[in-house]
Amino acid sequence: MHIRDILDRDATSISFEFFPPHSDEAVAALESRLDDFATLAPSFVSVTYGAGGSTRDRTNDLVLRLKAGGRLDPVPHLTCIRQSAEEVQSILARYAEHGVNNVLALRGDPPSDGSDWSADEEAFPHAVDLVRAIVEFNASGRHQDTRGFGIGVAGFPEGHPETPNQLRHMDHLKEKVDVGVDWITTQMFFDNDRFWDWCARCELAGVTVPKIAGIMPVTSLSTLRRMADLAAGTTFPATLLRRIHRWQDDAAAVEQVGVQWAVEQCNALLDQGVDGLHLYTLNRSDATKRLVEALGASSAADVREH
Ligand SMILES: Cc1cc2nc3c(=O)[nH]c(=O)nc-3n(C[C@H](O)[C@H](O)[C@H](O)COP(=O)(O)OP(=O)(O)OC[C@H]3O[C@@H](n4cnc5c(N)ncnc54)[C@H](O)[C@@H]3O)c2cc1C
Repeated sequence: MHIRDILDRDATSISFEFFPPHSDEAVAALESRLDDFATLAPSFVSVTYGAGGSTRDRTNDLVLRLKAGGRLDPVPHLTCIRQSAEEVQSILARYAEHGVNNVLALRGDPPSDGSDWSADEEAFPHAVDLVRAIVEFNASGRHQDTRGFGIGVAGFPEGHPETPNQLRHMDHLKEKVDVGVDWITTQMFFDNDRFWDWCARCELAGVTVPKIAGIMPVTSLSTLRRMADLAAGTTFPATLLRRIHRWQDDAAAVEQVGVQWAVEQCNALLDQGVDGLHLYTLNRSDATKRLVEALGASSAADVREH
């Protein structure tokens, strides 16, 4: 379904994020949870793309498998680091052929293998260049939906480490959105005030497309540390850290604290009319299910309709 139709249909969209599994065992583990995820009836699910395009085939495979399954509507992440224009065209053509309706267009994380990297040597130095390529693909009429792909981009309520000047970073976001973007999904955040302040700054800058809030239920101390690396600049409120440290020797209690925090965040965001909630699942259905149920719903469909 085209993202514009989803956002028109749902009072609040609820989406889940998966990453492509790295091994046969991990593939089997995710497969075994897909039923649970499907029962929760999210508006859509998204599938990440490894740093430097490293999971290209696994991302494509998972996206096409989900699409063929028909129960979870996949939105592939597409990054442009180390991707040639031809590779991007061929991925878009394959997705279009299989009826994938939306793409999240990203610059991507630089390669994690420590190799030299410079945006200047890229076919698409920034996400805005990838968005332009998708808009051109859409205009070529090669997608069965006459509107082509719905296009999403990333937003960073707490800024992006490469552009410490927040005003300039907002200019970059506006430039990207103005090329023809349908929605923004945000980096995870743990302090709703940061999100709402960013939304207000977006409005001032004329960035008016729907903004989907990225929410991560912390399930362990090691996940928290990994996320602090991946989402550099994100604030971890002292209250959250204090609660986690209080229970640090009890894994189940840490998970309970993390899910509870995410529930409080989601409830407050829903109260204030957020456009959508995007749950970073880490491919685990149990924490996601507990979160959705704690919102007072038996499935995401209940949340998105109210
Ligand atoms: C929801 C979400 C999903 C993500 N999924 C993935 C994933 O699947 N795979 C992955 O590898 N990474 C992923 N990331 C991480 C993301 O790719 C990185 O954080 C990346 O560094 C920024 O991506 P971007 O698309 O915002 O890039 P851009 O919009 O290109 O911005 C990157 C930096 O360049 C600056 N900039 C932008 N345009 C210009 C310009 N014209 N001139 C000068 N500077 C400019 C921006 O201010 C920013 O500092 C995700 C992030 C989010 C929030």
